[in-house]
Order: sequence, then structure tokens, then C-alpha cells
Amino acid sequence: MSLTGERARRNGATTDAPVVSLTDVTFGYTATPVVEDVSLRITPGEYVAVVGPNGSGKSTLMKLMLGLLTPDEGTARLFGDPSHRFDDGARIGYVAQHASASKEMPITVREVVKMGRFPHVGFGRLSAEDRAIVDRALDTVGMSSFADRRVTQLSGGQRQRAFIARALAGEADLLVLDEPTVGVDAESVEAFYDLLDALNAAGITILLIEHDLSAVTQQAERVVCLNREVYFDGPTAEFVESDALARAFGTAANFVGENR
Ligand code: ADP
Repeated sequence: MSLTGERARRNGATTDAPVVSLTDVTFGYTATPVVEDVSLRITPGEYVAVVGPNGSGKSTLMKLMLGLLTPDEGTARLFGDPSHRFDDGARIGYVAQHASASKEMPITVREVVKMGRFPHVGFGRLSAEDRAIVDRALDTVGMSSFADRRVTQLSGGQRQRAFIARALAGEADLLVLDEPTVGVDAESVEAFYDLLDALNAAGITILLIEHDLSAVTQQAERVVCLNREVYFDGPTAEFVESDALARAFGTAANFVGENR
């Protein structure tokens, strides 16, 4: 079965369970909340962008969604399970801002992508089918001809593609990207978003945390605008017409922790 077919089957089996579900979530690293009373659901196949000024709680919200932090109040669920108890990591592909941890790793692109299979095979050897899945993932992101190149020798855009391929090889249902195109040249950025579009069309749910508003408005179908609280959650076209951006960003500088 193809990657997409397998994913569709799983999504079909769990259509009732949102990918992410936050209900009245409040969280603070100290007594002051940095995320307050946030409720949102992301259903399978959506392409959602979370925007907000620096320090508005985007990364914190992502960590709450993924169970890396536990809400002080409210509940966070991932694929129907409490997020902090969710343990099927292969279903989530995370692409960090710089993918910097990889910079020093003297390993090849193919080796990075093979890691995506590890949750499926444990410490066992990769089967011919696993290797075929790795090849397909490399092909999907246009990195087949770089498969034997070391990650250290890639451009920023190529490195991000390699990490997406790792998520595809793991058969992730949800791709979470935290400002993935920071430091990536303009031409590669466009190709990168085209790839995200194609993956979303193939059924992968995409959660994009993004500072570049033009990228968001061109790509995502739904925007969540955050500054500790949710200022807007809805279709991108409505977001562009609304005053949510001005409200969230206009008071950005010291909004968190002030006015309370
Ligand atoms: P964003 O991703 O929108 O830039 P963050 O979620 O990183 O925002 O940060 C939200 C607020 O929480 C900021 O005021 C930040 O300084 C604070 N913060 C983030 N991480 C931590 C941490 N580990 N410990 C204490 N405060 C933190």
C-alpha cells in the first residue's frame, strides 16, 4: 500500500478524533500565563498556521499540543489521547527552525530519512519494503540525487526537505513545522511551500508556526492568531480582512504579562 493509501486508511479509521484538541488550556512557566484559555481543534487533513508576534506563545502552544508541556488548566489531546500520554511518535513529524542539531552530524541524507523507519522496526534491520519507503520519501521531497550527501553539505532548504522526508518515511499523519524557512533562500522557500501544499493534498495534516505572514496568507487555509489568547481562528481570507492582526501585533511588545 502506498504511503498515502496507508495514511488515508488510518485517517478514515479515526475521522471522529481530531488530530489536536485543546480545551480551555492555560499555561505559564511562572505564575503569569503565557497561553490563556485557548480552545482549538485541528481535524485530519487541515492546513493550519499559527501566527503571532515574538513571545506570543506560539512555541509554547505547540509544546502543549504535542504533550511536551502539560496544561495548568484545561485539557490537551493528540489523536484522541491526552497529549502527555501519547506515545506513537511516528505519527508526528517535527521540523524545527534550523534543524541545527543535524549540522554537526556526519551522516548522509539517506541515513537521516532511514531514522523515520526506526519506530516501525525497533532495532531490527530495515526490510526491502522499509528501504523502498525511504526511497519514495526521498523522491517525494526531490532529494533522491542528494541521498548520499552528508547533511552538513546541504543548503538550509535541502536540509529542511531531508527532515520532511524523515517524517514521510515514518508515515507521519501530522507535520509540525516551527518557522521552517528561517535562513532558507527565497527561491527554495517557494519550492518548500509547494511541497507542503502537495503533502497536504495527499492527506497530511499540517501545523505551521510562522512569522512570515505573506507565506501564511498564501499557503494555509486556516489561521490561528495568537498573543497569549486566541485573537482569531478561521479561514485565511477572513483573517486578512479582519483587524485581528493589528490587535494582536499592535500591542505586541509588552502585551504578555502586562495589562493584567
Ligand atoms: P513564541 O514562540 O511566540 O515566540 P514562546 O512560546 O517561545 O513564544 O514564549 C512565550 C513566553 O513564554 C515568552 O514570554 C517567553 O519568554 C516565555 N518562555 C518561553 N519558554 C520559556 C521557558 N522555558 N521558561 C520560561 N519562560 C519561557
